[in-house]
Amino acid sequence: MNFEYLIRDVYQKIKNIEDKGEIASYIPELSKVDPKSFGVHISTINQVNCGIGNYNEKFSIQSIAKVLALILAYRLVGDEIWDRVGVEPSGTAFNSLVQLEADKGIPRNPFLNAGAIVVSDILISNLRNPKEDFIDFVRSISNNTSLGYSNRIAQSEKEVGYRNIALCNFIKSFGQIQNKPSDVLDFYFDLCSLEMSCKELSELFLFLANNGLRVENNEAILSESQSKRVNALMQTCGFYDESGEFAFKVGLPGKSGVGGGIIAIHPDQYAIAVWSPKLNKKGNSHKGMIFLEEFTTRSELSIF
Ligand code: GLU
Repeated sequence: MNFEYLIRDVYQKIKNIEDKGEIASYIPELSKVDPKSFGVHISTINQVNCGIGNYNEKFSIQSIAKVLALILAYRLVGDEIWDRVGVEPSGTAFNSLVQLEADKGIPRNPFLNAGAIVVSDILISNLRNPKEDFIDFVRSISNNTSLGYSNRIAQSEKEVGYRNIALCNFIKSFGQIQNKPSDVLDFYFDLCSLEMSCKELSELFLFLANNGLRVENNEAILSESQSKRVNALMQTCGFYDESGEFAFKVGLPGKSGVGGGIIAIHPDQYAIAVWSPKLNKKGNSHKGMIFLEEFTTRSELSIF
């Protein structure tokens, strides 16, 4: 498969379509990005690396970071994590409070804000210096010391983070948060502020296409079974209330963020990252979704 040719060809086709999405503005700093930015990068397990457009520009990965938090917590506490957070799609908005009442503070899955807040609590309980240890872990996966948080984005989200503050306190009221809510929320906002380019994102996530092993040296980030489960969660819960649609049209496990990024994994083949900041009504990158649908259709490779 000539991925290089395919990426360029699909990019040229999608680049000029009308972008019907809207930039996320509920976090004020997010709205300052150039709405026309559009980048794609693929990293394959056969070491093909190829990007086009704004693939080298860092952007706010937002909810994509929830996958990284889950991975570190899964490494630290193993299957105990599933006592604190479920593995079901929610059918509700990513920042919804409603199900938590009936579910007594156990979020439906780790990619909802509520789920990532519980995962943040687990990390705080199990790391000595959570903020530093987490970024060290992320850097070590792809051997990239340039990865980091954005204080500007974290601060901006903190100032308007009323729903996340409510979620954390609500979960705490059920005894399902062990640390101080302010500490958990600080960590959560830092987590969401991680910045990366499409190139860095696809390189970082490539181990999920390789049964949990880093491609360069076969170091295990996750066991084979854990890697399969993280991919399963991305397939069923990775795209807010549009996860079914993404599985239907693109057919790959993945995760999106309100910064307009998407990472998608083809097990045994590649990791691909797309960034275009305007979001569709469900909160996923409008052009990113269309690009990936066209890309997987044209590549005729599927996990199904
Ligand atoms: N930091 C964002 C929030 O908590 C993450 C949203 C997202 O990318 O889904 O609202």
